[in-house]
Amino acid sequence: MTTPMLLAEDVRKSFGHQEILRGIDLTVGHGEVMCLLGPSGSGKSTFLRCVNHLERLDGGRLHVDGEPVGYRQVGDVLQELSPREVAAKRARIGMVFQRFHLFPHMTVLENIIEAPRRVLRQSKEAASARARVLLDRVGLADKADAYPSQLSGGQQQRIAIARSLAMEPKLMLFDEPTSALDPELVGEVLSVMRDLAESGMTMVVVTHEIGFAREVADQVVFMDGGVVVESGPPGEVLTRPRHERTKAFLGKVI
Ligand code: ADP
Ligand code: MG
Repeated sequence: MTTPMLLAEDVRKSFGHQEILRGIDLTVGHGEVMCLLGPSGSGKSTFLRCVNHLERLDGGRLHVDGEPVGYRQVGDVLQELSPREVAAKRARIGMVFQRFHLFPHMTVLENIIEAPRRVLRQSKEAASARARVLLDRVGLADKADAYPSQLSGGQQQRIAIARSLAMEPKLMLFDEPTSALDPELVGEVLSVMRDLAESGMTMVVVTHEIGFAREVADQVVFMDGGVVVESGPPGEVLTRPRHERTKAFLGKVI
């Protein structure tokens, strides 16, 4: 069996006395798209933050591309990574949030080349050339010199995706990337994400866009109360959910 891109086994996370993730098990293969659904407060963002080394686990195992998140396996022993090593790992995981967090005082091109120059030490020329390719890919080749405030929310989110891709991630995490957008701007962002999926990127997408999940996901996972209630191909989970909680949730979002 080949190593999955993401492997979660009995992942647990508490805040204070409250256990928010209560034993999450899931697997995402290389090149697969997993859509993560679930009501507000079910722990979806917390799970993504664990994958991205932003939260420390309280139990279970979490591996990205065969390596334990935040640790190094030496024989039978797990050694905690240094902050610098954690940062290097995080750089290989792209994260796109509900809000775009572009730097307002930088042009689109400057936004995209900032991390590749600073973290990957790319030259300005190389980073800019790559940024222009990515801008073309998200359909915004003509916006390189614009400032974020001159762009629509949908355009800003597409720039945020291009900025993540500039770091050559092996895994992309999306946390409700379209839920802050006006309805008429959702489609252009989903379309960029669909192209990215088709290009073979491994993606974990928290979304309420059931149409997108149905069309693009290899696997749909429904979470509630910090556990995976059910998972499977979209044709099963979205069309013939087995659990009442999944049915009730889908009844509300569709
Ligand atoms: P979702 O993304 O599914 O809406 P979250 O992962 O954001 O859910 O949150 C799950 C629960 O964890 C919520 O009850 C939230 O209040 C709580 N929570 C999230 N982050 C923290 C934190 N840093 N400290 C305390 N509680 C938190
Ligand atoms: Mg959330």
